Amino acid sequence: MNLARFFALPFSILLVTSCKPAPQVGGSVSSASGGKPVVYVANYPLKYFAERIGGNLINVKFPAPADEDPAFWTPTDADVSAFQQASVILMNGATYSKWADKVTLPATKVVDTSASFKSTFIETKSDVTHSHGPAGDHSHSGTAFTTWIDFNQAAAQALTVREALAKLLPKEAVTLDANLAKLSEELRTLDERMKVVGKRMNNQPVMASHPVYQYFARRYGISLQAVLWEPETVPDDKAIAELQSILAKHPAKWMIWEGEPAKESVAKIQALGLQSVVFAPSGNVPDEGDFMTVMQANVAAMEKAFP
Ligand SMILES: [Zn+2]
Repeated sequence: MNLARFFALPFSILLVTSCKPAPQVGGSVSSASGGKPVVYVANYPLKYFAERIGGNLINVKFPAPADEDPAFWTPTDADVSAFQQASVILMNGATYSKWADKVTLPATKVVDTSASFKSTFIETKSDVTHSHGPAGDHSHSGTAFTTWIDFNQAAAQALTVREALAKLLPKEAVTLDANLAKLSEELRTLDERMKVVGKRMNNQPVMASHPVYQYFARRYGISLQAVLWEPETVPDDKAIAELQSILAKHPAKWMIWEGEPAKESVAKIQALGLQSVVFAPSGNVPDEGDFMTVMQANVAAMEKAFP
């Protein structure tokens, strides 16, 4: 990532876009938010980026419930209508919001924050479906969507967020750029630290508890294979047997979990020679801290696991 690129954005572009008619904002939405643009987002990373970049100039709304994976969430009709009336809709792209295929969102308001690196999306083949609670069964086949744990991709998404906000707030470009620069620098630091860890891992086989680390593994050169486990569910005999068959060809010493695993799970895989480390993708709002502190803790845990 080149930080200079963020400052090199020609301001003439901002002048041109500011001449376009403003997105049609539902009058009630705008006045209800004190005249601030209302920014609807598809997941927590985008909520965090929008809030870091737009600060108190915008009103960010992330309606997915805290206990659901926003990637597999189904919004109510009222949620969809609120998205439709937003000033701008920040989507993750990479097939993240399955619900968006089933509704009509105003094309002029939708911003696909991963469009700039679309040509390098990862396609995964897996016909196995499973469920994560209330959203029902789902599959991870198709385009991998956990784009932001490649911190270089996260920075590209943040840049797109800044561009979208600059269209709504053409007079605030300096503030938006300053906020973006600080965020980008923090993402760049995470990226550099993970690159160092990736080198130290030296292509050793590693397991992941869920197939959500594709871009992370690619960016940092990690030899990763995934099972379809949940941190709070203790693997049964069948799940352990499946893991053992993977380990026969992929002799990992570490399992990366999306969240703090159950103690019993940790013990069960320890018996197979696997240690546990948490790297939380944080697609939804974390219980503690924010996106940056969660990612810093993730990277610190990886640094400790692979000294
Ligand atoms: Zn899943």
